Amino acid sequence: MTSFRPGVLRLALLALALLATPTAAGLYHLSEGSPLWWLLNAEPPRVEAPNPPGPQRGVMVLDAAVQPGTRADIVAVSLDGAPVPLPEVVDGHRDGDAPTPPARLYRLRLDTESLTDGRHALTLQVADRSLRRNRASREVIFSTDNTAPRLRLESSSGQVRAGAPVLLRWGANEAGDLRLTWGDDPLPPLSDPPGASGPPEGVSVVAVPVETGAGEVAVRLAGRDLAGNGAEQTLPLVIETAILPRQALAVPGSLATLATGPVARNEAAQVVSLTSAVTAARSWLGPFRPPLAVGAPRTTGFGDRRDYADGHVIYHAGYDLAAPAGAAVMASAGGTVVFSAGLPQRGNTVILDHGRGVYTLYAHLLRFEVEAGQHVTVGQPVGLVGSTGLSTGPHLHWEVRLRGLPIDPGAWLTLSEELASTAAGTSVGPESPSGG
Ligand SMILES: [Zn+2]
Repeated sequence: MTSFRPGVLRLALLALALLATPTAAGLYHLSEGSPLWWLLNAEPPRVEAPNPPGPQRGVMVLDAAVQPGTRADIVAVSLDGAPVPLPEVVDGHRDGDAPTPPARLYRLRLDTESLTDGRHALTLQVADRSLRRNRASREVIFSTDNTAPRLRLESSSGQVRAGAPVLLRWGANEAGDLRLTWGDDPLPPLSDPPGASGPPEGVSVVAVPVETGAGEVAVRLAGRDLAGNGAEQTLPLVIETAILPRQALAVPGSLATLATGPVARNEAAQVVSLTSAVTAARSWLGPFRPPLAVGAPRTTGFGDRRDYADGHVIYHAGYDLAAPAGAAVMASAGGTVVFSAGLPQRGNTVILDHGRGVYTLYAHLLRFEVEAGQHVTVGQPVGLVGSTGLSTGPHLHWEVRLRGLPIDPGAWLTLSEELASTAAGTSVGPESPSGG
């Protein structure tokens, strides 16, 4: 009798449900647990993954978060358009974050070694588990660098004459960190630091004490690029013994004591300590100049060996230049006066700090023209030639010191000219005369 068939009822109910539920879905968010979510969800899933900062090397680890966490999955991953294996699911949420609905966390490990260095795109495809299989994707952009930096380390000469400075040029082909060492010590650059974006490069100067015997020393350059790839280069330098004039001094005992005794040793230590600090600011640009106006004859050279009757040996730490008393002594380069006072051996002495570990010293002065703390420009008078201290007549004792070590002043003049003529990489240019 019944004309009402069950199939018709089901269709009617379904039609009613289809009419009612979009309204319900529009009124409140469909819970994931709801069977209606499966049927009706049209909201795409979300996927978050940060772009890795900086160039990557080796195995790159990438974390991705997918929401809704229990109803969406990463379904495909491609690298530069080619499919790669799916990432593993990692339990838990992001730190300090409790998203609702909870996120599903994935961790992708990608070995970048086989990739060409440069820019790459990783695409994550996400689909939810609803009827519609709503989709979303995220493109992660990153760059790789698995190539070690190419380092450059060269010296003006493969040989180091004891006491003479040697110029080293160094650099890398890409940005990063460079460390130059000499024995166990870091070797500071003489040049200005390059711009932040450019590859690092510079010049440094090394010297061994004048009394050093034949041998070999090594300069080592270690570099690391921004991705962390390392490289290392070693430059061996052959030490050539300086062949120096020798004087036997048969001076009275009292004078020999002043020249070689505790007073002299204290003074030597004081001069080393006054000239050892490496001041960051460089106060000179152009070549260094001799401290006396016209070709003052050199009466004692650098490193000349003096044998005293008491058995002590002294190596001359600078040049002795003959000049009449009262002649102006001029700053070899711009700098700051770090010492202007009397010393037992050197008499009235001025020491200038030129920055980056380079100092000049002017001794036996009759009078000072500068005081400690004062800044001087190249050619500015710092004092007058005299004969104070341990001296037998008016002359200038002139020293050039590199990080405390006395070096050959003439060789330094030549090297500073070479440095000034090289604009590229050192930003050392001509210095304008002081004019004052
Ligand atoms: Zn001298």
